[in-house]
Amino acid sequence: MEQNVITGMYETLGISQKVLDFAADIEEQLKPRFQEIDERAEYNQLKVIHAMQECRVSDVHFSATTGYGYNDLGRDTLEEVYSRVFHTESALVRPQLMSGTHALHIALSGNLRPGDELLSPAGKPYDTLEEVIGIRDSAGSLKEYGVSYRQVDLLPDGAFDYDNIAKAINDKTKLVTIQRSKGYDPRPTFSVRQIGELIAFVKRIKPEVICMVDNCYGEFVETIEPTDAGADMIVGSLIKNPGGGLAPIGGYIAGRKDCVDRASYRLSAPGLGKEVGASLGLNQPLYQGLFLSPTVVAGALKGAVFAANIYERLGYGVVPNGSESRHDIIQAITFGSPEGVISFCKGIQAAAPVDSFVTPEPWDMPGYDSPVIMAAGAFVQGSSIELSADGPIKPPYAVYFQGGLTWYHAKLGILKSLQQLVDDGVVSL
Ligand SMILES: *Cc1c(COP(=O)(O)O)cnc(C)c1O
Repeated sequence: MEQNVITGMYETLGISQKVLDFAADIEEQLKPRFQEIDERAEYNQLKVIHAMQECRVSDVHFSATTGYGYNDLGRDTLEEVYSRVFHTESALVRPQLMSGTHALHIALSGNLRPGDELLSPAGKPYDTLEEVIGIRDSAGSLKEYGVSYRQVDLLPDGAFDYDNIAKAINDKTKLVTIQRSKGYDPRPTFSVRQIGELIAFVKRIKPEVICMVDNCYGEFVETIEPTDAGADMIVGSLIKNPGGGLAPIGGYIAGRKDCVDRASYRLSAPGLGKEVGASLGLNQPLYQGLFLSPTVVAGALKGAVFAANIYERLGYGVVPNGSESRHDIIQAITFGSPEGVISFCKGIQAAAPVDSFVTPEPWDMPGYDSPVIMAAGAFVQGSSIELSADGPIKPPYAVYFQGGLTWYHAKLGILKSLQQLVDDGVVSL
C-alpha cells in the first residue's frame, strides 16, 4: 500500500503533516527496540500456547456454571494454565476477585494472622493498599486485625536499602510484599532479576518468610516472571496485562499451594476454598484474553517507548527515558504545567474507539488531594490495559500513560496527544 493512503487516513483523523513527519522520524529509529519487544512477545505467546496445550484446553472449558460452581472444569483448568505459565504449584483466577486491590487484599489477609508483621522493603505500596494495610486508618484494615506493618524506603538512587531491610526483619515478620511496577510513583520499576535478588536476600535472613509480588502491569513484559525468581506468590488484575483486554473482570493469585489455598479460604470460606465460585460464562474471555495478552502487552510497550521518545525529543522529563529497558507498561511524562497535562489527556481521549466525543476535565476525585484528569475510552470500565492516561493537577504536572490493545491505537493516541498540544499552543514543532 502506498504510504500516502495511510497518511490520508491520519489526516482524516485530525493529524497534521507536521506531527506525522516529526513522529515518522522517531518511529523509524525505534525499529530495533520494536523488534526486541516482538521477540519477547513471540516467546511469551509460545509459553501461553504450550500451557494451554499441556492442559488440553477444549471447548468444554468454555461452558458456564452457576450457583455454587462445584466441579467447574473450565475454571479449574484455567487455574492450571496460569500455574503452568507462571511456573507455580497453584493459582486462583476468578471473576470473584473484583480488582487488583481485592486480589492483593485476599492474598495478604489470607496469609497473615494476628501478631504477624508485614514488611514492604521497597518503599510505600500502591495508594489503595494504604487502606488495606492500615497505613491510613480504615475500617477492616489488616491493622484492625492485629497485623503490624513496617516499611523500608528505597535509597535516593532507587536501590534497595539492604542494611535497613536486614534490620527490619524480625521474629514477627511473616510476609514481605514487593511491588514490581512503579505505579504512580516516580521511582523506577524493578526488573524481575532485581526482585529475585531482593527475595534471595530476605530468604537468607529468614527462609520461612512468604515473599509476595504485586505483579500489576508487569506480566509478559519480560520473558520471566517473579515466580521464576523465587517469589512465593504473585498477584495481579485481569483488567490489566493478563486479561488481554478481553477479560471483563477478575484477578489472580499464583504461587505456592499452601499460600494460594489460604487465600482461597479467605475469598470464599474456610473449608470451601477453591471448590466454589461459579464462572458464569466468563471462562472463555479469560482464556482468550490470556492467549492475546503477550501481543497486547507488546503493543502497549511499543506505545510507551514511542511516547517516551517523542516527548523526550521535545524536552520533557520522561520516566522511563527513551532508551532504558522496560519492566512495566507505564510511561510517565512531566509537562510542568496544567495545560500540558490537560491537552495530553484530551488527545488520548479523542483517539479512543469509545467515548471519543467527550472532553475530559479535571475533577476532585475521592481519596486524592488535588483535582485529577483522566482519559479513558475503554470497552471495559477502568481497564488500563486499554489506552488510558491520568494526571493529578499539581506540580510537577506529570501524566501517567499506559495501555493500548493494539500498537496502532497506541500510536494514534500519542499522535493525537501531540496534535492537541500543538493546537493548544503548548508545543511548537
Ligand atoms: C492497578 C494496581 C493496583 C490495584 O489494582 P486495581 O485493579 O486498580 O484495584 C495495585 N498495585 C499496582 C502496582 C497497580 O498498578
